[in-house]
Order: sequence, then structure tokens, then C-alpha cells
Amino acid sequence: MSAEPTRTTESTAFRSGLDVIRGIEPRIADAIGAEIEDQRASLKLIASENYASPAVLLAMGNWLSDKYAEGTVGRRFYAGCRNVDTVEAVAAEHARELFGARHAYVQPHSGIDANLVAFWAVLAQRVESPALERAGVRQVNELTDEDWAALRRDLGDQRMLGMSLDAGGHLTHGFRPNISGKMFHQRSYGTDPETGLIDYDALRASAREFRPLIIIAGYSAYPRLVNFRLMREIADEVDATLMVDMAHFAGLVAGKVLTGDFDPVPHAQIVTTTTHKSLRGPRGGMVLCDDSLADQVDRGCPMVLGGPLPHVMAAKAVALAEARQPEFRAYAQRVVDNARALADGLTRRGARLVTGGTDNHLALIDVSGYGLTGRQAEEALLEAGIVTNRNAIPRDPNGAWYTSGIRVGTPALTTRGLTTAEMDEVAELIDTVLSRTSVGTTRSGKPSKAAYALEDGVAKQVAERSADLLAKHPLYPGIDLS
Ligand code: PLP
Repeated sequence: MSAEPTRTTESTAFRSGLDVIRGIEPRIADAIGAEIEDQRASLKLIASENYASPAVLLAMGNWLSDKYAEGTVGRRFYAGCRNVDTVEAVAAEHARELFGARHAYVQPHSGIDANLVAFWAVLAQRVESPALERAGVRQVNELTDEDWAALRRDLGDQRMLGMSLDAGGHLTHGFRPNISGKMFHQRSYGTDPETGLIDYDALRASAREFRPLIIIAGYSAYPRLVNFRLMREIADEVDATLMVDMAHFAGLVAGKVLTGDFDPVPHAQIVTTTTHKSLRGPRGGMVLCDDSLADQVDRGCPMVLGGPLPHVMAAKAVALAEARQPEFRAYAQRVVDNARALADGLTRRGARLVTGGTDNHLALIDVSGYGLTGRQAEEALLEAGIVTNRNAIPRDPNGAWYTSGIRVGTPALTTRGLTTAEMDEVAELIDTVLSRTSVGTTRSGKPSKAAYALEDGVAKQVAERSADLLAKHPLYPGIDLS
């Protein structure tokens, strides 16, 4: 009897799913198929991205998506939610256990939503306002114009102290283009011009003077550890609530690489996160808090959110279960080891790194050392198949659009299995591209902050070396769609 060629269970699952989709809209099936090939072919160094496991991906593709389940476990505004109750309760249980949190709210659809839920919860807890209380228990569309006017009056002068954007903070930490900047008067804390590290003394002085309701810690592009014990001490001194947005480094907290003073959960009253970055889950958000804020946080729906996404909560539960395995701790440690190896490799080749290195999963290259803007560097690297993103550096002369920085992170390549030794090769590839790129010109011949010129042949040569490296670490090795 001749043996049938075996396909892995994962291949069968994804192939069958794509066949079903192809029957309705082949362009979508093709795009999904093409995406795995693009991801397989690129050297992904975007610090906020990762590769979720097949189990996480499959948990999202099913009929849980069909269910409305506004409310919380056991208290729904819709009938027939017993399975969603199970899903949400299991996800919350894993989150509490994994992070050692008193309470977990797993409904937010994204990091932005999680932050909004947290802001409203703190406002509801801290600001005396009958209008706010009404807003917290009614459907938003039941609020009258008078309710909204009273709400605006009562919220009037609330303040937030957050990390400045160019020091690595996030838009949702009180900045104008985001709703948080309209809800709160914002003041920023930054980093020391010499060391590039958070200046806690300046932060304390600023908090004493500004008297914020919320001090928000957490970042998108700060390559060092944050001392949350110290942040809480400062918050207590000025009667502020300490909120930590650990969207970027949740995987390092889950993997017990960030412990003690550097684990936000024991120190902050409220912690928010995304689930799709270093935590390696589905695209989504989550809030962890102490008992005093639990009821307010659970009002995220209907105050901020509509119906939860039960299929995504299912995927969060799967990802959190994965993160509770011993292998995840080893993964988190490798993420940090890889980031350090990458930073060392870049520094040895003469690259200038903000703060001189990294203690977490990311590094920020000051590409002005190569005579480039972040925009030029990002595009030149992309041409060679290296996917990064440009990012402002502290006191960036090129502003937030062109920038002078390139942010590189290791969560995705570490999931793929790249080692510290291979990070040196990655550093070599980045340095090769950047040192052989020059400033391009506009059509009229003027130097342009957006245009670049990469020496002939470099993109091809780097792409070949990167393909050799990636071939040793196949992405989604169990999935064959051919
Ligand atoms: N908070 C931080 C620190 C982030 O870096 C991000 C996204 O990059 C967010 C919040 C927003 O997350 P999302 O894109 O899921 O809304």
C-alpha cells in the first residue's frame, strides 16, 4: 500500500478555509495567500508586529463573530450569550493569572480602545460628577444634550502627564490629534538630553506643579526600562492615578523578563495593553486593574465600546494560554537578547543609537549619523526587503513626519527563530543599506527629505543575504498552501 502524502492539520485547515473564501471572492483568497508569502519573504523588524500562532489565527475565523454580547459575563444586553460568557471568562482568567492582576477586561478592540476605557474608568472614579455617573450607566445614545453639556462642564480641567512623543510616548497619551488630547489638558515629560533616559526628577517636579489626575507611563519607542515603582511613588505624592500602557512590552511582562520595579502590574492602579505586539496574540486590547476600578472598567461597554468581538476574545484566550507556557518565558528572554545583539552589532558598525543601546525589545537608530532622514532610511531599507518604520528621536530636527530615526524591534524575528548570532548579520544588512544610501533630489534637482538613492546592486545583494537567513527559519512551517 503506497503511503498518501500527509499534509499537516494546519495546512488542511488554512487551505480549506481559503478554498471556501475563493468560492465567493477569489481576490480576497489571493490576497490572504499573498500576505503569508510577503511575510515569509521580508525581514520584519517593526517593533510593534509579530506572528500569531495558527491556533490564535484559527480561533478568530468562526461563528463566534456572529454574536452580539454587549455587557459583561453573566450580565448581557443580549440573549443567548453562554458561549461568549465562557470565552470571555476564560480569556480574563488567563490574563489575571498570567499578569497577577486582580481584574482583567478583555473586550477592547484595540490599544486605543483600551486606553479610552481606562481614561473613562479613572474619570468616573475620581471626578465627582452626577453627569458622569449617568453617562456610565446609560447607553451613550440615551444621553441628552444637557447631559453632555454637564459632562463637559464637570470634566473641564482634568489633566494628564504623559511621555512626550519624541521621547517615545504614544498619541493616545494626551496628544492633540487623538481624542485623549481633547479630553485632557496634557503636559509631557521627556528624557535627559545627555543620557536619553527618563528624567524622574524633572518628572516629579513637573507633577508637583501640574497636579495631574493621571500620570501615564508606557511608550512606543523608548529602548530602556521604566521604573514603575518610582512612577507610583511620584503619582501618590501628587494624588494622581498611575496608568501604564504596556502595549509594546506586555510580552516581556508576561514572559517575566520585566519583574520587580519594572513590572507595571503591582505598581499601577490601571494597566492597558494591546495583545498583538510582543504578546503575540490577535489584534486587540485589554485592561488590567485593581479592585477599586473593576466596576468602572467593566462599563467599557456601553460607555466606550459597542458589542465585543467574541472571536477575537477567543483568540486572546488562546494567546494568553500560550503565554502561560514555559516556552513563552524563553521566547521573551530571547526577544531581549536578540535586541541587545542587534543593538551591539549596529553600534560596532558605527550606528548611533538613542540612549546608546537597549534593555527591551527595540532600538532606535539615529540615522542622521548616516546623513539621512528617517523617511529616506525607511524606504531604502524597504527596497532591500527590510521592513522597519521611521520614528522621531528626542528633540528631532526633522519633526514627526520625516524624522531622524528608524525603530527596529525583535519580537517578530525571534518568533521566527533567529538567534543572537544571526542578529549580527541583520545589523550588517541594515548598516550596508544605510551606509550606501544617499540623499535623493526632487525633479527640479533640489535635495529632498523624502528622496533617496541606493547604490546600484545593493538592494539585490542585501535581499539575497536576507533570503538566505530567512530560509533557515521558515515562517509558519506547518502551513503549506501550494
Ligand atoms: N499604546 C501604545 C503604547 C502603542 O504603541 C499603540 C500602537 O502602536 C497603541 C496604544 C494603540 O494600539 P492600537 O493600534 O491597537 O489601537
